[in-house]
Amino acid sequence: MTESTTIRWEQDDTGVVTLVLDDPGQSANTMNQAFRDSFAAVVDRLEAEKDGIRGVILTSAKKTFFAGGDLRDLIRVTPDTAQDLFDGSLALKRNMRRLETLGKPVVAAINGAALGGGYELALACHHRIALDTPGTRIGCPEVTLGLLPGGGGIVRTVRLLGIADALLKVLLQGQQYTARRAQEHGLVHEVATSRDELMAKARAFIDAHPEAQQPWDRPGHRIPGGTPADPKFAANLPAFPANLRKQTNGAPYPAPRNILAAAVEGAQVDFETAQVIETRYFVELATGQTAKNMIQAFFFDLQTVNSGAGRPQGVEPRQVRKVAVLGAGMMGAGIAYACARAGLEVVLKDVSLENAVKGKGYSEKLCAQAVAKGRTSQEKADALLARITPTAEVADLAGCDAVIEAVFEDLALKHKVFQEIEQVVAPDALLCSNTSTLPITTLAEGVERQADFLGLHFFSPVDKMPLVEIIKGRRTGDEALARAFDLVRQIDKTPIVVNDSRGFFTSRVIGHFLNEGVAMVGEGIEPASVEQAAAQAGYPAKVLSLMDELTLTLPRRIRDEAKRAVEEAGGTWSPHPAEAVIDRMVDEFGRTGRSGGAGFYEYDEEGRRTRLWPGLREHFTRPGHRIPFRDMQERMLFSEALDAVRLLEEGVLTSVADANVGSLLGIGFPGWTGGVLQYINGYDGGLPGFVARARELAERYGERFTPPALLLEKAEKGETFTDAR
Ligand code: NAD
Repeated sequence: MTESTTIRWEQDDTGVVTLVLDDPGQSANTMNQAFRDSFAAVVDRLEAEKDGIRGVILTSAKKTFFAGGDLRDLIRVTPDTAQDLFDGSLALKRNMRRLETLGKPVVAAINGAALGGGYELALACHHRIALDTPGTRIGCPEVTLGLLPGGGGIVRTVRLLGIADALLKVLLQGQQYTARRAQEHGLVHEVATSRDELMAKARAFIDAHPEAQQPWDRPGHRIPGGTPADPKFAANLPAFPANLRKQTNGAPYPAPRNILAAAVEGAQVDFETAQVIETRYFVELATGQTAKNMIQAFFFDLQTVNSGAGRPQGVEPRQVRKVAVLGAGMMGAGIAYACARAGLEVVLKDVSLENAVKGKGYSEKLCAQAVAKGRTSQEKADALLARITPTAEVADLAGCDAVIEAVFEDLALKHKVFQEIEQVVAPDALLCSNTSTLPITTLAEGVERQADFLGLHFFSPVDKMPLVEIIKGRRTGDEALARAFDLVRQIDKTPIVVNDSRGFFTSRVIGHFLNEGVAMVGEGIEPASVEQAAAQAGYPAKVLSLMDELTLTLPRRIRDEAKRAVEEAGGTWSPHPAEAVIDRMVDEFGRTGRSGGAGFYEYDEEGRRTRLWPGLREHFTRPGHRIPFRDMQERMLFSEALDAVRLLEEGVLTSVADANVGSLLGIGFPGWTGGVLQYINGYDGGLPGFVARARELAERYGERFTPPALLLEKAEKGETFTDAR
């Protein structure tokens, strides 16, 4: 044993050293300082005792193999500490290089997930064997956090797979592969089905390859597919930035650009220089704002949200066994599938058995696709489908311990449906509505047990969208809230919790994005520029095309209801400039969106979007009227971020993490921002910079950009939006 406890040294009498990664007190191994120190010490010892060693196996005592870089350290890096990061990264890489050039066979026995730094460590071994367990995931997902694999991952994957394959299969999209898929793509050499087999195969490799070398250290090694020095390869080089642009849509994501540069530049130099180049690009990303935004949101905030920070304390966790899904339309069918996939019994009820069976047909379609793609077995698919019982009979809901209602968006109908079933389901069943616009408190008035009632807002398509917005009505009890939280986790979705309010959080905030885009058309700005501005700001859907998808009559109905409520309370409705545009589109031109066959876009007979409606230019566009492109983008981003602050002020939102995660996973707020509130934190000049810019926009485009009091207060105090948990 060495003094290190992070890496355990176990040597058998045949001279095989097993290095067991086992960071004490941590649930996973990460590249923290303790690991770096232990790793350096272990490599020193391997070199010193080399003569008595036949080979080395790297494996882990945790459920995962190795989790990668320590993000807690990385998010704190500043330009002042950049040099330390550079030195530390390079030192670690040099130690990994010493391991692979030790002159003894080194095998990675990957016993679970090896992502990012974990896979990079495995790449520094001559042979990689992955245990085929459901938890095994292999790849370099750094790009999804605005980073690049800075542990030699670019240098080695390029030398292993070639520039194009390394970029496309590993680096630019951050794919995570199962053990078998990783083998198919050449990321690992072998797969094992048990831990014993894993270790036996590792030993067998050592026995058979006493002189093991990395491919790139063998004489005459050439990078597969060539390098920019080869004329044939060079001819394709200009396509790389173009493809990159296609991936990012022109949005400000620096990571893919740096990855591309590190791969191409690194392929033209020796291994050592390539490591330095990779480190330089890595440090540049780690010190930049985008990586901080993305790490905050996609790692820390997501962890906060999923770990139950929003779940009431002290309520015993409970699992749902049998769920009633009311309404087998688009949403109900998707919800039934998500529940059945997670192992719940589902009773799917509609007005007729025919409708219900049709709803189940959606699951049949998804299962068939999953089997065809090898993502599941026929047996598992059959079992999933057997868990869904379609029906038109209320009596079949007996014994359901949760209800998720997804019938038409109609208050009276929803009340009626709950009345029908309340006495039939389990006496303490959780009662949820998937309404997208109706107030939960009003809906709850239709049931007897109002404390057990809440909103469970899924997003379409349910099988793909990871978010569920839980809406707490005025009378919703803590017990129900906790159970809803547990249900959402049980079906493997991410729950955010908000208080009841018109449009809740997600629908209300995305409404501002849509309104802003539509308002710009009304001002006479070229519609194609509006779409371009949304795309280049990083929105996954262009603003006018999204408006068409949602239908133009929907915001009208919501607005009419909101207006009535304001006026009934004695207030005056101040119209958004988008309203007049929507009214004209619907009333004057009869264009209600894609479902009506015509909207801001034209559609062919199959409902496919063809082009922007030329009438927009005729009726709205003022030729030559332009505003700065940055203003167009920031009007959309600011309108959403400012409303999120107002929602915090109003107490609809109670957590910054919920706001960030909800905006990213539910309504397509651009990922590089780190979410609606992190966008404000990370804005150039921080909160004061954001306030100044909001005032500028308010002056130019309307009072709706006036910074709310909470934002001003935080800016003055030098605070940011964070959860004090
Ligand atoms: P849909 O029109 O596709 O389906 C509604 C289904 O409810 C139909 O199959 C209908 O036959 C059935 N139904 C009507 N009365 C019923 C009754 N008495 N008992 C049982 N079933 C009955 O609608 P959808 O798009 O699935 O929306 C359903 C709900 O989900 C609505 O409240 C909607 O606002 C909400 N929602 C929709 C979306 C979306 O993107 N479409 C997103 C979030 C929430």
